[in-house]
Amino acid sequence: MTYFPLLAFLLLAVPLSYGLPQDFGFGSSTAAYQIEGGWLEDGKSMHEWDNLGHANFSEDGTNGDIAADSYHLYHQDVALMKEYGIKHFRMSVSWARIVPTGRAGTAVNMKGIEHYRKVFVALLEAGITPYVTLYHWDIPSYLLIVGDGYADPDFPEDFEYFADVCFRYFGDLVKHWFTFNEPWCTAAIADYEPQDKGTKVYRVTHNILLGHGRAAKIYHEKYQKTQHGGIGIVINSEYYYPRDPNKPADVDAAKRCLAFQLGWFADPIFIGDYPQVMKDRVGKRMPQFTEEEKKMLKGSADFFALNNYFSCIAYARNKTATAPVEESYWEDRNADTSYGDWNKTDNGWPIVPQGLHDLLIYIQQNYLKGTKMPIFITENGIVIDEKSPQESQADFKRIDFVTKHLKAVEQAIFEGANVTRYFYWSLIDDFEWGGGYLAKFGLTRVEFGKAPKRSPRGSLRWYARMIHAFGAQ
Ligand code: BGC
Repeated sequence: MTYFPLLAFLLLAVPLSYGLPQDFGFGSSTAAYQIEGGWLEDGKSMHEWDNLGHANFSEDGTNGDIAADSYHLYHQDVALMKEYGIKHFRMSVSWARIVPTGRAGTAVNMKGIEHYRKVFVALLEAGITPYVTLYHWDIPSYLLIVGDGYADPDFPEDFEYFADVCFRYFGDLVKHWFTFNEPWCTAAIADYEPQDKGTKVYRVTHNILLGHGRAAKIYHEKYQKTQHGGIGIVINSEYYYPRDPNKPADVDAAKRCLAFQLGWFADPIFIGDYPQVMKDRVGKRMPQFTEEEKKMLKGSADFFALNNYFSCIAYARNKTATAPVEESYWEDRNADTSYGDWNKTDNGWPIVPQGLHDLLIYIQQNYLKGTKMPIFITENGIVIDEKSPQESQADFKRIDFVTKHLKAVEQAIFEGANVTRYFYWSLIDDFEWGGGYLAKFGLTRVEFGKAPKRSPRGSLRWYARMIHAFGAQ
């Protein structure tokens, strides 16, 4: 017998409890393409990641055609959560299953609607609340082929149409909506033609924000009164520490990094316009909101949804006089970053619970002061390089990671941050985009293949104990 099961038992025998508020909810997160499979089933069309996956874009040459097959096995996911007491589940719906062309005014695929209704009903029957992301990186390919994708002038209207369809058909079952997942990733880490680098990146963000604003507006005006739900957008950000806190150039670099990531999205939504430092640095290349658009965006979120995995060190760029200056988001940001001396996860990300704490306090003070708006941590998690299924029985590193991050959340709440939800990413192992199936984020291990098989990790058993001990809703 190895030492894993024994230690796992010892750990699980110790109920852990936290000084978190009574209405605090523990959940888990997923996204459609990363777990569903069923890639062309029941009228679904292709989306960007179907194309990338088939072009062997991922490290291990795999794709999400089958993934964890949750399209067929969603009952198993629901059963897992029910058994382990997880009552909050974040998932996304696939735009290409619901409006196959993606275009405003085009046909709705009723088979896609039926599928997701079945999933939501199964969740609710098991006592689990669905939190639904409309867009988690799977733009219908049609929009990229016949148009200019996110940068297309019609994009906000197309997205609003899709959102409206979802509110209409799912709004009786779903009360928590997120428009976009991590729009910073969609805009900032995309590949642009050299001549577009300093412009398109801002047009993409502008369109995504307008799409969010339009979707939120129709939800608030047309549906909220009868459906009694809320809507927000999932913003991802690292926290940035100056390399030398006594060097003003480093302190400014850290502030700029935060403005160019968190502020780029949070400022228009919670304050009403882009951060001044971005407007100053990007100048004429920065699109402007009309007064009407500013009004539409400000207050367009009912909660602050944050994804955070790590933090960074920021410092002033060391430019040489001869370095060529190209127009780009990174050049505009004018700061360099590193992962510092912190301990690292198996994929090299720094482990910085304090950064989550500092980010939460920053959000509360800069965006939510004097409001009762809740903050949801919609993603936080760790990759473990698991050498054998046996290791997953205890899963110590994951337990340690979550414990430390929850402690940081607890401290932030104590200091005034109104955090009410924590969603671990992910409920099950999944297709990790460029990382394929190599990156294991799940509370549940999945053996991938034609008939994927789920087995709970020690961390899921521990999460259940903790939820239970805490008496969370
Ligand atoms: C994304 C997820 C992804 C996770 C871990 C987040 O940026 O929203 O889709 O799986 O990071 O890599």
